[in-house]
Amino acid sequence: MEGKTSRRAGLRAPSGPSLGSNRDSTRQHNLSTVLGLVHTTTGISRAQLTRATGLNRSTIAALVGELVQLGLVRESDLDQTQQHGRPSIMIQPSPDALALAINPDVDAVSVALVGLGGRIVNPVRFHTVRAPSAAEVVNIVSAVYTGMRTSLPAGQRIVGAGLAVPGLVDPADGTVIEAPQLEWREQPLTAQLAAALDLPVTAANDAVVGARAQAAFGAGRGVPDFVYVYGGASGIGGGLISGGRLLHGAAGFAGQLGHTLVRTGGAECACGSTGCLESEVTREELIRTAALPPGQADDLEEVVLAKLRDEPESGELWDVVTRQAQQLGIGLKSVVNHLNPSMIVLGGFLRILALAAPDVLDATLRAGGARGPREDVSIELAPLGDDPILIGAAELAFEPLIADPAGFLRGRREAGPVRDHAEEPAQPA
Ligand SMILES: [Zn+2]
Repeated sequence: MEGKTSRRAGLRAPSGPSLGSNRDSTRQHNLSTVLGLVHTTTGISRAQLTRATGLNRSTIAALVGELVQLGLVRESDLDQTQQHGRPSIMIQPSPDALALAINPDVDAVSVALVGLGGRIVNPVRFHTVRAPSAAEVVNIVSAVYTGMRTSLPAGQRIVGAGLAVPGLVDPADGTVIEAPQLEWREQPLTAQLAAALDLPVTAANDAVVGARAQAAFGAGRGVPDFVYVYGGASGIGGGLISGGRLLHGAAGFAGQLGHTLVRTGGAECACGSTGCLESEVTREELIRTAALPPGQADDLEEVVLAKLRDEPESGELWDVVTRQAQQLGIGLKSVVNHLNPSMIVLGGFLRILALAAPDVLDATLRAGGARGPREDVSIELAPLGDDPILIGAAELAFEPLIADPAGFLRGRREAGPVRDHAEEPAQPA
């Protein structure tokens, strides 16, 4: 997938190849290609690498050797699935390179270490009684990170952090321009985290990073045109993949699907408008109608689906789910007509609407019947929970490493000895 061009707070420019050094830049490109393939396939044989890159066997062996030296991949058992020829050595992401993934929301701050290959190591969901301030997020993340570092096995290192925000993020410097549900405006959270953690930190919108995770590891892998729509406590956002590229828009804010008009004169939205998709289709209303006790929002899907099985179809919960599924269908119809994706991937609480009322969602989306983009679009579900968001946030941190593996690690070393946070208490902001 196409890389973002955002500046990374706290990240020193990797010392790239010197001018005219074509061999170095070819080598950097090849290392990047091989590491990228190992990362997204989470295990690939040398023979498959040779075929996928068009490079010869000895070049692949040398590149893999360098990535092993850098601690980014490891060679393991022979690939026994090969039908013909000699079994080939499997190359897998090393468990030693980790990214810190951070996702603040209105009722929790999620933090996890994620390995290359999109493997979540130890997720922590820190519940908060109200929406955390940016300063509180820095404190919570610092404390969790300190604990994580302390228990990190020898040899493992954290190469950077990715921050997924339920709001608008300035791609130039990672400033959170606005996160209405968190009541944040102009928060330099990315720079504050970079300073507190002593790590390069890259930030982006949560739904956009979710789309990246789906493109790299999920339902959208190998699908050039799809839309990821994510519903969380903070509202609804989207990531648009068209022709294999993530659409950024002029200022990097493309994908604000939550503010698609679905009902004229509808409920007031935090954006100042009315009848937006995210003011009509809310997780809050589902929680309220399903009478979920406080602190159990993580079980929403399970509870709602169980209650619907027991409730007559005339019940209040059915009414709410049906209406929300219909409004979601109206919103998706516009998206599909604009972008003609082959697939829509629904994540977060939007899964509930697709699981509980698939016919309503489908009928609304395809209403009209004319031949065109809505005819063939499929609806898929992202995995439950915030895994796609955390994996996508980690992708932000891995991106510069994968673009120039040797240069990035050299740059990190030259940035000075890494402070041992294990011995430092988290500083209150
Ligand atoms: Zn709105």
